[in-house]
Amino acid sequence: MKSEVGTWTRQKSIMAYKNACNYIPGGVNSPVRAFGGTGIEPLFIAQAKGSKIYDIDGNEYIDYVCSWGPMILGHAHPQVLKAISKAAKNGTSFGAPTQAETELAGKIIAAFDSIKKVRLVSSGTEAVMTAIRLARGFTKKDMIIKMIGCYHGHSDCLLAAAGSGVAEGNSRNQTVASSAGVPNVIAKQTIVVPYNDIESVKTAFKTHKGKIAAVLVEPVAANMGVVLPVDGYLKKLRDLCSNEDSLLIFDEVITGFRLAPGGAQQVWGIKADITCLGKIIGGGLPAAAVGGRAEIMNLLAPLGPVYQAGTLSGNPLATAAANATLDILVQKGSYEKLESSACELEKGFSKAAKDAKIPMTINRIGSIMSCFFIDRKVLNFADVKSTNIKVWKQFFLKMLEQGIYLAPSAYEAMFVSFAHTKEDISKTIEAAQKSFTKITN
Ligand code: PMP
Repeated sequence: MKSEVGTWTRQKSIMAYKNACNYIPGGVNSPVRAFGGTGIEPLFIAQAKGSKIYDIDGNEYIDYVCSWGPMILGHAHPQVLKAISKAAKNGTSFGAPTQAETELAGKIIAAFDSIKKVRLVSSGTEAVMTAIRLARGFTKKDMIIKMIGCYHGHSDCLLAAAGSGVAEGNSRNQTVASSAGVPNVIAKQTIVVPYNDIESVKTAFKTHKGKIAAVLVEPVAANMGVVLPVDGYLKKLRDLCSNEDSLLIFDEVITGFRLAPGGAQQVWGIKADITCLGKIIGGGLPAAAVGGRAEIMNLLAPLGPVYQAGTLSGNPLATAAANATLDILVQKGSYEKLESSACELEKGFSKAAKDAKIPMTINRIGSIMSCFFIDRKVLNFADVKSTNIKVWKQFFLKMLEQGIYLAPSAYEAMFVSFAHTKEDISKTIEAAQKSFTKITN
């Protein structure tokens, strides 16, 4: 394995990666961690504190991956650590109910107007999988509409991609599985349409009249980089679902408690029928949730006929981390600080790219943002795909070399946390200035 860059030492990471590859497929336990497309081996992490992450070679980086979203308070927040260790002393898993779970459910319900009942699970994948089963059980319909470029975890029916003709607006059942191992017959229950394109959703409803259980969407897409909904898009999805007796599922695994306590629904004043949460609500431990109207949620076992379960659901350590994280987050003024740090970063990056004459579009809302190397708006996955990946790769590597850890993929968001200081932001902007001057097209 040869490294393309490297004025800094990564030898221990490189060795650890080679060793891991002997035991773990691709050396990683989630594909994006492999740094595929960056030209270098993944960094192996030793520890993290606040806004910084440290690799096993002892290098320090300002971290904008933040574990892909959960670490909104920064790493190893003292109050969260205290809550986890207090809980651990009382036992790490019971497989029986605890009051802390009710407390967490109450906090989620208080934050989201649309949520009256909550089921805790352990991952975003499980939350969305359960949301879909609930939507099918409630509506007694089978098909789902999802948007191209939105990610909702790795359950079978969501690993679906547009077959030929779909992206051009012909939504007649041409979806194919996007992963080996997923039967096409399952993928075909999912209609995939471009994000931000309400007409294609209308067409899908017409083509599959009376068969659509739910429209599933990331209200702000953040798994193709950050792509914001165009004016009126979310409201139109809401209206279409209501008119067609289908459910609107907001996957707020990234946006929940990130844009505001009540997620995108609070920002846009729209109520989803079912909401999926994850990442932040686990405070860095595995916890996620699905919530919604009581009449829908009460269909879940043991009350109703929709089956769902989990040995580690509502795990005491995860619940303790979650309760501590949400308590800190709802404190007044929290989100203003995030907004001002991220806004500063956006302004600095924009100016640096402009000065270096590098075409770049930044999509940002609150503390999530993406730099797309393109000279026009980015509104959907097709736009994302036309960005300049060669420039992105150079930018990523030059930033890493200067101690700035950005997501190792052109299709992922940057996450700003409360732990990022003014100094971190200034250093990051300076690094971007230097990087841009060295980039070649
Ligand atoms: N939904 C969204 C919007 C996500 O970003 C993710 C994870 N990136 C998931 C679902 C799946 O969550 P998990 O990885 O916890 O299964």
